[in-house]
Amino acid sequence: MAAPTGLIAGNWKMNLFHAEALQLGTDLAERMDLWGRPPVDYLICPPLTLCGQMAAFLAPTPFKVGAQDVSPLKNGPHTGDVSAEHLADLGMAACIVGHSERRRDHKEDDALVRAKAEALHRVNLTSIICIGETEAERDAGKTIEVVTRQLQVSVPETSHSANTVVAYEPVWAIGTGRTATVEQIEEVHNHIRQMLYDRMDFDGYAIRILYGGSVTAANARDILFAKNVNGALVGGASLKAETFWPIIEAAGAVAARNLREAQQA
Ligand code: PEP
Repeated sequence: MAAPTGLIAGNWKMNLFHAEALQLGTDLAERMDLWGRPPVDYLICPPLTLCGQMAAFLAPTPFKVGAQDVSPLKNGPHTGDVSAEHLADLGMAACIVGHSERRRDHKEDDALVRAKAEALHRVNLTSIICIGETEAERDAGKTIEVVTRQLQVSVPETSHSANTVVAYEPVWAIGTGRTATVEQIEEVHNHIRQMLYDRMDFDGYAIRILYGGSVTAANARDILFAKNVNGALVGGASLKAETFWPIIEAAGAVAARNLREAQQA
C-alpha cells in the first residue's frame, strides 16, 4: 500500500504579530518560487488573531492554515470560546487538538480532546490529534500504555484518513531541544499504526502519523525517513523560513523515495 502524502505542519503557538507573520509567509512563498514545491502537504497554525489574515495571504500558495484549539460546543453563552463553525467560517482547513501544552495549562483530558475532534469533523475540518508521554511516564516504562490510552479515547468514531492526523509528541521533547531517537519514534509510530489498522482496517494505513518534538533542519531527514512517520509537527523551527524550509525539503526527499518505491512495487 502506498505511503500517505507527507504533511509538514508548523505550530506557531503564542508567537508572532501581523508584520512578522506576513514576512514569514512572504519568505516561504519566495523559497517555493525559487526552489520548487516538494510534493507534500503544508500547514501552518498561527495564533487565532492571525488565522484569517494568513489564510487570505497564503491562498495563492499550497500552504493551508489551521488553528491551535477549538471549543467542542457549537455556539451559545461561552465567553472567549471559538467553535469549529467559527474556524470553518474563518477559512481554516484544520485544527490542532490535545496539544500537551493545552493538556498541561488547561487540564484538558482525552475525552475533551475527542469532543473537540468530533466538533471539527462536524464541519469537515481536519483534526490533528496530539498524544505523547511525559518524561516520568517514559522513565516508568509506560510509554506504550499511555499512548494506547490516549489514542483509544482521543480519536473519535468520526475519524477517518481524510479528516484525522495523529501527532506523536513526547512531552519531554517539545521545545527542549531533546529529540526522541529514531528507534523510540519508530516503536511508538509502529504501535500507533497497528492500533489504527486494528480499528479502521485499511483506512488506518492512510492516516498520517506526524512526529513532533524539537524537529530541526539538522534532524529532520533522519526523523522523516523513519518507518510510519508521515511528516512532522514543528514548533520553534517553524517560526523562521530559514529553519522551516529545510524541514519541508527533507519531507520532499521522503516523498521522492516513496515514489521510487511505489514505481518498483
Ligand atoms: C510543538 O509545539 O508541537 C512542538 C513540537 O514544538 P517544538 O518543535 O518547538 O518542540
